[in-house]
Amino acid sequence: MTGSNRQEMSCIFCRIVSGDVKAELVAREPGATAFLDVSPLADGHVLVVPDDHVARVEDLGEEAAAALFRTVTRLAGPVRAAVGAAGTTIGVNNGDATGQTVPHVHVHIVPRREGDGASSVHGIFPAGPRRPVAEVGEAIRARLA
Ligand code: 5GP
Ligand code: ZN
Repeated sequence: MTGSNRQEMSCIFCRIVSGDVKAELVAREPGATAFLDVSPLADGHVLVVPDDHVARVEDLGEEAAAALFRTVTRLAGPVRAAVGAAGTTIGVNNGDATGQTVPHVHVHIVPRREGDGASSVHGIFPAGPRRPVAEVGEAIRARLA
């Protein structure tokens, strides 16, 4: 058992985890469930979700986070191989401002092939002036204490 196993009956991913709503499941492991995205960005586009209904990665308990990433790690190779892809882009829209549409943490595993027309993670951000790296590093370390 991981975390609190909090569920929200209005949440589509909670309902998939509970078996209430059908999905193309590919793995069910302690603390995490993986299934195919209903509107795949590429063949083999998988979503991995924790059992617990929390919106953002930083809201996950330690055990739930470990279970989630364990499943992502276990699936990345088989997902890639199953569709003959060259690699996978693995990402999380983490919060409203990022375009997250389902407020239940989910990790996208999207198979990639050369010439598929998609960019790297770097491609989603515009270029622009940035604060000095050392200043930002200090601000983050201060909040980790
Ligand atoms: P987000 O934009 O929140 O990171 O991604 C949510 C993802 O969930 C989208 O890629 C969307 O296609 C997928 N999705 C939304 N509703 C359902 C559903 O009912 N079943 C499945 N399998 N995927 C869903
Ligand atoms: Zn949920």
